[in-house]
Amino acid sequence: MDDREVKAATRRCRECVACCAELSVDELNKPAGRECEHCTARGCSIYAARPGSCRTFRCAWLQGLFADKDRPDRIGVIFAAQETAVGQVLVAFELWLGASLEERPARYIANARRGAIPVVIFHHGTGKRSIIADHLQREQVDELIANVRSARGHEVTRMRTTVRPLDGAATDPIRVRRGPAKGGQ
Ligand code: SF4
Ligand code: SF4
Repeated sequence: MDDREVKAATRRCRECVACCAELSVDELNKPAGRECEHCTARGCSIYAARPGSCRTFRCAWLQGLFADKDRPDRIGVIFAAQETAVGQVLVAFELWLGASLEERPARYIANARRGAIPVVIFHHGTGKRSIIADHLQREQVDELIANVRSARGHEVTRMRTTVRPLDGAATDPIRVRRGPAKGGQ
C-alpha cells in the first residue's frame, strides 16, 4: 500500500458533512447549498439507507489526497479528483465565498496548476465557476466547461467529458473512478 492508499483506508468523514450541505442530491431533490435534512451533529441520520449518489461520492481528501488535517469542513473546500481523457481534473467546491483563495486550498490549487492539472472552482453562493487550465487549448476548455455545467452535485463523480488530448485525436470519454462506499461516521 502506498501512502495515499493507507490514508484512504484510515480516513472517515466523521462529523464532516460538507458535501451534504454544499452539493445537490438528485434522489432527495436537495438543491446545492442547502443542508440536507438528514444531517445531524454526528453525521448522516440515514447512513445505512443513504441514496446512491451519497454512497458513490468520495471527495479527494477521503480518497487519501492532501494532509490529514485538511478535511473539507476545516479548509472550506471540497476537492474531487476526476480522471479524464486529458488526465486528472481537480474540481473544487467552496463552502464559503472566497474559501478557495485561503492558504491551504490555494496551495493545493497552485500545486495542481504546476502539475498541469486543470482545476474547476465552484464559487460558493454565486453560481460562478472558474477554470484554470493553462495548458489546454480553447476547444478543450469549452468542452470542459460544457461538461461541468451540470456537475453541481454529488453526481460530479459521474461527470463525463469528451475533452480531447492536445493532438486532437478522438478519445474515450472520461474514465470514472468509482471507489468503495463513502467512509463511515
Ligand atoms: S466525502 Fe468528503 S466532504 Fe463529504 S462528508 Fe466525507 S470528508 Fe466531508
Ligand atoms: S449522506 Fe445523508 S446527510 Fe449527506 S446528503 Fe446524503 S442523505 Fe443527506
